[in-house]
Amino acid sequence: MRRRLETTLIGVRRVGNWVNLSTPLGLGIAKAGGCRTKSGPRGLRLAGGYRLAFPYAPAFTVGNVLISRTEWSDASPKLLAHEEPHTWQWLMCAGLPFLPLYGVATAWSWLRTGDRGAGNVFEQRAGLATGGYRARPSRPLVAGIRAAAWAGGGWIRKRWGRSRGGGPNGRADVRPASAADA
Ligand SMILES: [Zn+2]
Repeated sequence: MRRRLETTLIGVRRVGNWVNLSTPLGLGIAKAGGCRTKSGPRGLRLAGGYRLAFPYAPAFTVGNVLISRTEWSDASPKLLAHEEPHTWQWLMCAGLPFLPLYGVATAWSWLRTGDRGAGNVFEQRAGLATGGYRARPSRPLVAGIRAAAWAGGGWIRKRWGRSRGGGPNGRADVRPASAADA
């Protein structure tokens, strides 16, 4: 009985994420990133060898497509265990609305914890530890807003300084990226 329910849910996820266009988007991103894609367990698609700079993450999930910078044969079961819940989140969000919702959750997480993942409900539900995130104490929202204003001010000062100082096109250097995944 339980097995039949699981099979049904997996079928719903496969069809749902195809119809809501998230799986086609994932396959397109995997292709653009130069991935080799193969079938995984439970109707998942495993794409390995992602090469584009964005998003900066060792692995991320779009629809039913789990995209990793390494090959999936090398990837740990822990990675699969973390990324698969994101496929259900794409389904729950009816596909593409996942992206702005994830963006809001990331911003909220940063304001509350200073980290993109620790306070992000999508990452909490997928599993912070398996995703390489560390749980962090939350800070008052006011402190987060102050930190954001400070960081924004620093960015503007840097940009302003560079454009006057004549750096290449006045652009700021590539910002340091966090090692956490999506
Ligand atoms: Zn994640």
